[in-house]
Amino acid sequence: MDSVKDIWHALQALPITIALFDQRTDSVFANPSAQTLLGIPALVTSAHDALSHLHLFETLDTSLPSNVKPPIHLENGQNINVRYSYIAQNLIALIFEVQHEPDNQADFDEVIAKISAQLIDIQTENLDQQIESALEAIGTFCHADRSYLFQFSNDGKEMSNTHEWVNNNINPFKDELQNIPQNSLPYFFKTMNEKHVFNVPNVSLLPVQAAAEREEFESEGIKSVLCIGLRSDNTLFGFIGCDCVSKAHNWTNTDLIRIKLVGEIIANALKNVVYKQRLEQTQHQLLIANQELKLQANIDSLTGIANRRCFDQTLTNEIQRATRTLQPVSLIICDIDYFKLYNDNNGHQKGDDVLRQVAQALQAQCKRQGDLATRYGGEEFAIILPSIDTQHCLQFADLLQQRIHELNIPHLYSDISPQLTLSIGCHTCFVSKDTTPQTMISAADKALYNAKNAGRNQVQQID
Ligand code: GH3
Ligand code: MG
Ligand code: MG
Repeated sequence: MDSVKDIWHALQALPITIALFDQRTDSVFANPSAQTLLGIPALVTSAHDALSHLHLFETLDTSLPSNVKPPIHLENGQNINVRYSYIAQNLIALIFEVQHEPDNQADFDEVIAKISAQLIDIQTENLDQQIESALEAIGTFCHADRSYLFQFSNDGKEMSNTHEWVNNNINPFKDELQNIPQNSLPYFFKTMNEKHVFNVPNVSLLPVQAAAEREEFESEGIKSVLCIGLRSDNTLFGFIGCDCVSKAHNWTNTDLIRIKLVGEIIANALKNVVYKQRLEQTQHQLLIANQELKLQANIDSLTGIANRRCFDQTLTNEIQRATRTLQPVSLIICDIDYFKLYNDNNGHQKGDDVLRQVAQALQAQCKRQGDLATRYGGEEFAIILPSIDTQHCLQFADLLQQRIHELNIPHLYSDISPQLTLSIGCHTCFVSKDTTPQTMISAADKALYNAKNAGRNQVQQID
């Protein structure tokens, strides 16, 4: 046993991470470096049981050459390579090496190229995920414990932590870092505005004027900080940064270049999102304006009912439809009686009011889907009634006269009534190959002419 102790005494002083496994007593000696790495005491007895979670002894399978032993995975995510050699019978020296994460420029470039490719074709839905991947890349490659994105409020007075990545066993702080007034960290923002970089390898060495910053960082256990401003049109709108919590870290030039690159990628992605949102907003407004224009183009501005343009289009459509359905189409044209006299005696404005009243009354009577009341011109109105035969068309025209009568608009200069009246011409047809809007309008017009000639304030009809 003495000889084992002697051997260990010599081995443990080596500047490597080493342990000695005594198979006879099932105990493991660990030098300080091995104790820290594996989280074990200097001497472990009943080692097979006590260290079973490390799967340490599984690597002692002598059927494998020493250099192809599977690595040990520690709970903190580290992978450890183990080499061993028998230095006496039943006495095995174990040498540990931490497997370094992939950490070279090529790996970084590959990760960043992938992220930026995805961010170029930006879909707002996966933006958060891409930003988090970019933060993870920067955190990992800069050996930080935490990396984050802060964005300023629209008025620039507050900032909020919008995205965060944290290493294993490191506390996230995002939720506590919302709506922080910028003037609570004056030194940070002065530096950021002037240099666009805030590089502090050791928080305890911050100058006196950075007392507020130092207090804030220390309250979060931060030892080193590196931040890069994000700009759009030369205005700072946020920043990304890294912290080291477990130990201070001297940021290298490579760290700086990498974080600047990621900062630019994120800034561009966020700008693209804003542009995209603005574009969508403009498109939406254009769409609404277009619909509005279409509507306006079909509406008579004085009365608010459909105009002549809408009438022409609708009548053409209804004739085509009736050709397929073999249903009749009815057309009514009405004209206000002695309207010139009304205008001359009551003024044009009163005349306009009357046109509006009559238009609304006619439209209110068009209750079926497909019925359309239009202002045909001047004081004339036309009504299209799809699938309505002669008899129902005449009934409809009588109702129109009744509605106008109910309006009870005094017309003191009319020959035929003390009230405003309408003359109405009706035409109903089953569409043939000779039917056109013009043939229908002529027939309805002729009926109207007959109504006027027969004394006005009446309905005439032509089939
Ligand atoms: P009739 O019974 O034969 O139809 O006689 P009328 O006076 O109604 O017919 P006429 O065609 O001689 O006059 C139509 C009048 O309608 C002339 C015009 O002052 C009036 N008018 C046409 N458009 C408008 C309008 O937009 N506003 C107003 N206030 N009047 C209009
Ligand atoms: Mg007229
Ligand atoms: Mg008239």
